[in-house]
Amino acid sequence: MGEAAFEFAIIGAGASGLAAAGETVQAGSTVVLEAKQRPGKKLLATGNGRCNLGNRNVSPEHYHGDVQRASRILERFSPEKLEQFWRKNGLLCRELDEGRLYPYGLQAASVLECLLRRVERRGGEVRCGFPVEEIRREQGFLTLSGPSGRVRARRVILACGGMASPPLGGTDAGCRLAQSLGHHVTELFPTLVALTVPPERAKPLKGARSLAEISLWTKARGVASSRGEVQFTGEGLSGICVFEISRAYGELSAAEKREAEFSVCLMPEVGPGDVFALLRSAASSPILPAQELLDGMLNRLVAREVLRAAVGRLPELARELRPPQLSAIAAKIRDFRFPVTGTAGWGAAQAMAGGVPLSEVDVSTLESRRCPGVYLTGELLNVDGDCGGYNLHWAWATGLLAGRSAGMAADPSVRWDHRI
Ligand SMILES: Cc1cc2nc3c(=O)[nH]c(=O)nc-3n(C[C@H](O)[C@H](O)[C@H](O)COP(=O)(O)OP(=O)(O)OC[C@H]3O[C@@H](n4cnc5c(N)ncnc54)[C@H](O)[C@@H]3O)c2cc1C
Repeated sequence: MGEAAFEFAIIGAGASGLAAAGETVQAGSTVVLEAKQRPGKKLLATGNGRCNLGNRNVSPEHYHGDVQRASRILERFSPEKLEQFWRKNGLLCRELDEGRLYPYGLQAASVLECLLRRVERRGGEVRCGFPVEEIRREQGFLTLSGPSGRVRARRVILACGGMASPPLGGTDAGCRLAQSLGHHVTELFPTLVALTVPPERAKPLKGARSLAEISLWTKARGVASSRGEVQFTGEGLSGICVFEISRAYGELSAAEKREAEFSVCLMPEVGPGDVFALLRSAASSPILPAQELLDGMLNRLVAREVLRAAVGRLPELARELRPPQLSAIAAKIRDFRFPVTGTAGWGAAQAMAGGVPLSEVDVSTLESRRCPGVYLTGELLNVDGDCGGYNLHWAWATGLLAGRSAGMAADPSVRWDHRI
């Protein structure tokens, strides 16, 4: 045969794969195979390069998919435990807002270095430019092969992540490998992603930002809502509050998606009657042009679009606006509607919803129930988290658990460098 043989092979040098490899190196020879030319590409881009690596508020309510089974893993990996893990490995965390945890120096590179150090200092090997296309069981080994060669290992950790952001490593390769081993994959859709609106509505607003409350509606019901900064991208609406709603959009049926609408409340802290009163007061000015009525209240691009939608042809001066017109403007400020045409797609998404059902792995070890000796981690599993560090928390928890379980199965006598 001639190809290298290892105790452990990890497919994917991303968040969960590197966390797992840091465990398996303590129990035997380890190779990490990475399709891209360098490890941790996505990790370096997380949190705008600052890496929102966890959240102090981790709890099952912040996760979607197979949450009940996932909660058994989350219980074992509290945020405190993971902070301790990082601290023990020389990385101090800091909380910025809403429980979001970052490396103290606010650099994703420091997280990647920490993970690589745990692997390489103990003799683990990271081979980049090695996309794995096939896994076969042969003579007590699992053989992994692809255009760059073949590797044999006794135990394999499938840490290929999901399809979000292909330039950073997003791919369905992990799903395909899992399926080839007998696993199912649930319906997949991009999540934590911008949503698109018709071009004629999106283009005039390109570049505007507004602090707002945004809700997603179908004809029958309000589906989800969130508050924060809405960014108007020229194709649609983006920003954390939109990301938060995007999962609920992905869950709608095709028929519901066709009638989905955003309602953007541009002055969420001001009651409907008070908005009208503010407008009436501004409109009493003898010199304020009608076109500029909202310029002192809203983003100016947004202000113009609200006026256009509410009144159409404007008089010259604001004081010429009649009460029903002011009332229509106030209503638009509280409920500015946009039909939703879709998501901005995998390229713009931060995570993948769907994946391998947790019922197909043993949640106490993450070993596959379909293919013993193979473990699954991270986004490849049917669990995804809210925006705010929850996805990386899941990646660390599952990576550490799979790595430790595979290591213990290979060598129960190892003295581990930390408790999990
Ligand atoms: C722009 C962006 C910003 C984000 N910011 C945050 C954030 O701040 N906080 C947060 O919690 N989450 C964030 N996320 C989500 C988070 O990065 C992922 O949930 C997490 O990285 C998933 O970890 P993973 O190990 O499952 O997969 P990944 O980290 O994606 O790693 C998978 C690796 O496997 C490799 N691979 C895939 N298939 C193969 C194959 N067949 N052979 C060899 N290698 C393969 C890929 O190239 C990749 O390097 C962000 C995502 C994006 C896209």
